[in-house]
Amino acid sequence: MRILISAMALAAFAATPALAEVTMDDIANDQSITTQIVTNGMGRDLQRYSPLKKINRHNVKKMYPAWAFSLGGEKQRGQETQPLVKDGVMYVTGSYSRMYAIDVKTGEEIWQYDARLPEGILPCCDVVNRGAVMLGENIYFGTLDAKLVALNAKTGDVVWRKKIGDYKAGYSYTAAPLIVDSKHGPLIVTGNSGGEFGIVGAVEARNTETGDMVWRRPVIEGHMGELLGEESTMTGELNATWPGDMWKSGGGATWLGGSYDAKTNTILMGAGNPAPWNSHLRNAGEPTDGHKGDNLYAASRIALDPDTGEIKWHYQTTPREGWDYDGVNEVVGFDMDGKRMAATADRNGFFYVMDLENEGKLHGATPFVKDISWAESIDLETGRPNFVEDNRPGNPADAADGKKGNVIFAVPSFLGGKNWQPMAYSQRTGLFYVPSNEWGMDIWNEPITYKKGAAYLGAGFTIKPLFEDYIGSLKAIDPKTGETVWEYKNKAPLWGGVMTTAGDLVFTGTPEGQFKAFDAKSGEELWSFQTGSGVVGQPITWEQDGQQYIAVASGWGGAVPLWGGEVAKTVKYLNQGGSIWVFRLPDEYAAN
Ligand code: CA
Repeated sequence: MRILISAMALAAFAATPALAEVTMDDIANDQSITTQIVTNGMGRDLQRYSPLKKINRHNVKKMYPAWAFSLGGEKQRGQETQPLVKDGVMYVTGSYSRMYAIDVKTGEEIWQYDARLPEGILPCCDVVNRGAVMLGENIYFGTLDAKLVALNAKTGDVVWRKKIGDYKAGYSYTAAPLIVDSKHGPLIVTGNSGGEFGIVGAVEARNTETGDMVWRRPVIEGHMGELLGEESTMTGELNATWPGDMWKSGGGATWLGGSYDAKTNTILMGAGNPAPWNSHLRNAGEPTDGHKGDNLYAASRIALDPDTGEIKWHYQTTPREGWDYDGVNEVVGFDMDGKRMAATADRNGFFYVMDLENEGKLHGATPFVKDISWAESIDLETGRPNFVEDNRPGNPADAADGKKGNVIFAVPSFLGGKNWQPMAYSQRTGLFYVPSNEWGMDIWNEPITYKKGAAYLGAGFTIKPLFEDYIGSLKAIDPKTGETVWEYKNKAPLWGGVMTTAGDLVFTGTPEGQFKAFDAKSGEELWSFQTGSGVVGQPITWEQDGQQYIAVASGWGGAVPLWGGEVAKTVKYLNQGGSIWVFRLPDEYAAN
């Protein structure tokens, strides 16, 4: 028996590709090193752009599946992951905080890790995971019980495991971590999830080898930061933009992780909705009260110093937020007219372009979805929205029974003109490819008080489609003008990531199960493949043994079936799943 086990272990070892350590140079140059993907976003500015062009708009029609891998078990639900690839091994995170190492040549499993979640976790929006990051011999990912885990990439053994927050208070984690260098050495940077439970958003930076905290920056004013085990500075100024004690459970979950701009050495994170949703309880319903109800730094993009965790600058996309327009969506760095800029497509329906070399100064803000109701426009000088005051959900205190404020119909819905699903930027076309949705909501406010571990909304809502024939809308947007150059309309809401390549292709998937390739310049659909379940994952591409490969996770889920109101009913027929699909060209087309 003993001999048999060692023989099997030896066979498994022999089949495992040799793994070289991931260096900080690998991370810094992830976009240009086309044989690997070791960061979220295929590069830390999150462009999701690959210089590979073996697969291109002329031959993409010939692409076929090389293999598929099942994430198995009884547990399926949403598969929102972005796979990583290093030295012939693919690393995939699955729903319920699982990770798999897969041999890219054969599609066979090398190891599997299951975080064995406790009872009583409180994920708001499905049991998803959005990916991992690698450094040295380790691979890191966050789990639904709000832990950060470092695994040995070769064996899947746990190296260390650290607590991000108390899951019983509503903290959880789903985003891919970010690795940056600092004067303290490499740091692994995470945010937190739980904005619907009155948690306090924070950004945390840990030593990559030990997991020990180096700095911590809460993103709600009044809370103290931490540096090397000591208190550092207060975030903002106590009660400058928050009334009373509301900041203590003020939300601002940093739940989508962040990007890093090397040129300005800046970490860029987003903070979610202020809590509770009922803005009147946060003074945000009183436009005459100066900036008292702005509720910093919720619904903001925040630029942080990697050495100290101090806030360098911020931009609040939705001050006085009252529609659950989280400010978390990814900030994508890119070059425009010789300057380092960043773009972000907000839940609130506006596409913002900011100047990274000038403290995020607003360069443009244009609607990227139709019929936005809550603001007329964004003032480019002050950066503040020109609010439509009538479109703020009413104060329940004004109702006769004090229980339900005025119901309003707001666009976009709280699931956003764009939600978590990442856009892509092509260095060839200069366009952003934005997976958006056209929908609105009935929303009203109700009274609420904070209770640990309980939903902290003070609001009710129903999401409704705006148009009969489609909700999803993949748009090619010119960051210089904010104009939509082309649009692909999809019946169900889009919830998957986008990738673009130097082959002038744009890839994304649909809840209906199709994984699609579009012409990056014209938007013409060139190729489509039915993956068997809804695609809400994030596509990747890499090169191995002279072949270009493309992969995406399939597995319907995420927030839409759980929170989508009338829209959820229209997509009820979609089946769950859990698989990774890998595509390539036949040899005769791959040679060029
Ligand atoms: Ca939220």
